[in-house]
Amino acid sequence: MKAKQRVCRECGGKAHVVRKDYRFIESGLNNVFLKDIEIVVCAGCKGESPRIPNHDDLMRTIAVALVDKPYELAGDEVRFLRKYLGEGSISFAKMLGIDRSHLSRVENGAMAISRQTDRLVRTLALVHDPTLVQKLKRLGRHDEVLRRLSEIGPDVNPIEMQLDHAEDGYTYDLRAAA
Ligand SMILES: [Zn+2]
Repeated sequence: MKAKQRVCRECGGKAHVVRKDYRFIESGLNNVFLKDIEIVVCAGCKGESPRIPNHDDLMRTIAVALVDKPYELAGDEVRFLRKYLGEGSISFAKMLGIDRSHLSRVENGAMAISRQTDRLVRTLALVHDPTLVQKLKRLGRHDEVLRRLSEIGPDVNPIEMQLDHAEDGYTYDLRAAA
């Protein structure tokens, strides 16, 4: 790890920049990891703040990775997609043709998503934000995602998502969580 000397913005203490993987809990998802990004670590307050490049593309990449998930979506993943699309729970529930209390039970994990609603959340995301389709095409995943709609596993298995930042945007890798 290379370290450069900095001053902490929170406490004025000595801070340095390291490069490492970062668990991106700010996304609202538990298993999203950003590979090899710069993190400012303070020796005083022990605060860590990541320097996340290209934030818009990062959020878009998480959204397409969820659309590409080989298992049915978990509640926090549905919530991520709804928020990514800028929809409130009332409007999103209406678009899905379910009531708001049903959607909130799904998002809170109190109720599993139905097979139809899972597919609808994914296709709605792609219709709602055409940049998701562009991103999938750029990553060469578009045809695979279409085919996948008929093959999504019925289990809500946890996945781990690794995101790698490059010049032309993030790429993602999905694997079963340990
Ligand atoms: Zn500090």
